[in-house]
Amino acid sequence: MVELELKGERQTLPMSMVRNLAVDPDRSVRAAAYHAELQAWERHAMPIASALNSIKGETNLLTRRRKWRDPLEASLFRNAIDEAVLDAMMTAAHESFPHFRRYLHAKARALGIERCAWYDLFAPVGKDAKRWEYDEAKQFIIEQFATYSQKMSDFARRAFEENWIDAPPMPGKRDGAFCMRLRKDESRILTNYKPSFNGLSTLAHELGHAYHNLCLANRTYLQRFTPMTLAETASIFCETIVRNAALQNATPEEQIAILEASLQGSCQVVVDITSRFLFEKAVFERRNERELSVSELCALMREAQEQTYGDGLDPQSLHPYMWCAKPHYYGSAFYNYPYMFGLLFGLGLYALYLDDPDGFRARYDDLLSSTGMADAPTLAEQFGFDIRKPDFWRNSLEVIRQDVERFEALVQGA
Ligand SMILES: [Zn+2]
Repeated sequence: MVELELKGERQTLPMSMVRNLAVDPDRSVRAAAYHAELQAWERHAMPIASALNSIKGETNLLTRRRKWRDPLEASLFRNAIDEAVLDAMMTAAHESFPHFRRYLHAKARALGIERCAWYDLFAPVGKDAKRWEYDEAKQFIIEQFATYSQKMSDFARRAFEENWIDAPPMPGKRDGAFCMRLRKDESRILTNYKPSFNGLSTLAHELGHAYHNLCLANRTYLQRFTPMTLAETASIFCETIVRNAALQNATPEEQIAILEASLQGSCQVVVDITSRFLFEKAVFERRNERELSVSELCALMREAQEQTYGDGLDPQSLHPYMWCAKPHYYGSAFYNYPYMFGLLFGLGLYALYLDDPDGFRARYDDLLSSTGMADAPTLAEQFGFDIRKPDFWRNSLEVIRQDVERFEALVQGA
């Protein structure tokens, strides 16, 4: 439990609720929550550091016994990519940081502050003026999927008509959203629909997973197994279709809200994930020699955040205890870069689609049906592109860069 003072009132809240205050529109609330969170982690850091040292030490030991070069090599194998792919993606990601910093500067301007602090990363910007009722979202998705293909649109209609989707939030229901394959070409979706663009976007995302399952329906059980790197391919693609369509008919205020939500997400997946990757890599290397102290872990985390967020964030307000906050460090190694691969691979495909829609349509379903059949570079090669070259990833990031530009212009005009 975390003690904090909110608007003059002393409160004791669980850590999850304190961290959720990061989305509060009131900056003083966000700041109070951030400071209380850091103090709480500081008090508990010693046993958490001990757990982290043990887990990373065990992974290092198993890596040696299994004759991997290092934990990263084993992780790349698990994720069906290789070092050349990771390097190409990371090269393009590092090149894109200046654009994300421009986004953070524009966000600061929209919030009326000089520079974003860590606790402003999730601050809401703009008013999501338009309410998207469920039925309207459903219609919109069916229509927009049709701009891609009748098959995708018919499939979405079927999912709605056959009641595959458990949509409304209700007491006792778990939060979040996911999609699971049920049988043959059928899936089921759980979501907690809120009448906003975010609700609509999540629905399109999960329908993308269901569409991927449809493409995999004729494969055997083992052939369907899709590595984490390729699991988000269809969902990101579908999300991007509805986002770009919604932007076209939105007022400037709504455009700001839609772009902010999307850029906030990409900033996490590209910038923050890189910081987590750099941190974990450094921890594994040092843990090979000895155990790391709390202050060393904090220093490594701060360094990783400085290298990635750069001048986008106030350097006095980073989050040196992120290694306490994220459970990903305490399970398998490098549970981070596959997220970035997922987003950028989906966006890269979207960029290829815009370039040559007909050629793309003919090959896309085939790619989705093969995600359990070969590693990612081989599949990409069959599709006609090379993910070992930074250019593929640069095209993905170009989709984001254009959004940053649009966001900047809208914020300046507002
Ligand atoms: Zn997903």
